[in-house]
Amino acid sequence: MAKIALFPGSFDPFTKGHQNIVERALPLFDRLVIGIGRNTTKQTLYTPEERQQQIAALFANEPRIEVQIYDILTIDFAKSVGAQYVLRGVRTMADFEYERTIADVNKRLAGLETVLLFADADTASISSSLVRELKAFGKDVTDFLP
Ligand code: ADP
Repeated sequence: MAKIALFPGSFDPFTKGHQNIVERALPLFDRLVIGIGRNTTKQTLYTPEERQQQIAALFANEPRIEVQIYDILTIDFAKSVGAQYVLRGVRTMADFEYERTIADVNKRLAGLETVLLFADADTASISSSLVRELKAFGKDVTDFLP
């Protein structure tokens, strides 16, 4: 059976930190689905469609990666794409605590196994929210983006 992982997130925007997780996870799976969660309540920098385009362009040469937008529960979306694994990145203790709770629920409700990769040192301080904040104040954020 093909090993399929879902990498769910907001990716607003997709940073070098996200790229790092994707590149390191790719050898572990047959296919990787990057799932952009549509959040209708949050104010976003880019629309989900813009994010999908940007990420798909970045991995255009990698046929094992696909990028999709979803607006259902992550476990239901994982099932719909045939993913047995959820991929997430961990930067801090706060990330760890958060991921542990979600992983537990995802396993109970859907039998989904979560694979966590620790952030690499050179991208560990990058977050989408930091990029959004800097950008809002007119700062150059190209260093943080793929
Ligand atoms: P969410 O809103 O679901 O947290 P994000 O787009 O912020 O979505 O993050 C998606 C995933 O990528 C999360 O698992 C997050 O911990 C991870 N991540 C974000 N930035 C980094 C980074 N710099 N290094 C490693 N993992 C990261």
